[in-house]
Amino acid sequence: MKEEIYTIPVMDGFKEDCECPFCAMKRTLEDNTINYVLSPSYMEEDVRGETNDKGFCPQHMQRLYTEGNALGLALMLHSHMKAQHETIDELLKDSTAPKKRFGKKQTETSPLWQHYEHLLHSCYVCERVEEVFNRYLTAFFMLWKRDAEFREIVKNCKGFCFQHFIQLYELSGQHLKGDMLLEFRQLISSLQTENLKRVEDDLEWFTLKFDYRYKEQPWKNAKDALARSILKINSQWADKSTKK
Ligand SMILES: [Zn+2]
Ligand SMILES: [Zn+2]
Repeated sequence: MKEEIYTIPVMDGFKEDCECPFCAMKRTLEDNTINYVLSPSYMEEDVRGETNDKGFCPQHMQRLYTEGNALGLALMLHSHMKAQHETIDELLKDSTAPKKRFGKKQTETSPLWQHYEHLLHSCYVCERVEEVFNRYLTAFFMLWKRDAEFREIVKNCKGFCFQHFIQLYELSGQHLKGDMLLEFRQLISSLQTENLKRVEDDLEWFTLKFDYRYKEQPWKNAKDALARSILKINSQWADKSTKK
């Protein structure tokens, strides 16, 4: 089965000691995609065609820029820029003056505006990560169904970020049935409640440590509570910033 190769990164994600194994998977996937984009892969016609067309969201452009491969990025962007320049020139040539001059709203968007929307919402890295990540989710349920050892690992993880918890809960309806579905949903719900409570308590203790009355008290597990809370709330972004 094709999904078989995706079971390894899923296992690796659960081996990481973090607030969401799926965020860990996504972060590795994102790192690999960034490295891939900056590698000589840009010379491959199909990859270049895709990066020329989709470009990058601001977050990933920033990542690419700070990665330190100036030549790799410049070569790719040169190609992307030329392709976009040509496309926009073509669209400008085809654009005609608006027909309705007074009062009425224009209901149809022009091809130039459609292209703007496309540029605004497309990103080669985001789309590639999302595509592979969806396969990881399928692989997760495949492992869940057949591997008792894996189920134990999941039961002992630290829960998930909000986004991945909801995704997992909703998707389970497509992959599991009957008692197995019920058990799974109950399990991840109590796992999530228990672990949110843990992080909430840590965060509360973090705030109390600013109070002079608790100044001399130990930090307990609260030192990195802020970064871990951001991860629970906002997915993998915060974890990246706290990665050692
Ligand atoms: Zn997550
Ligand atoms: Zn992106």
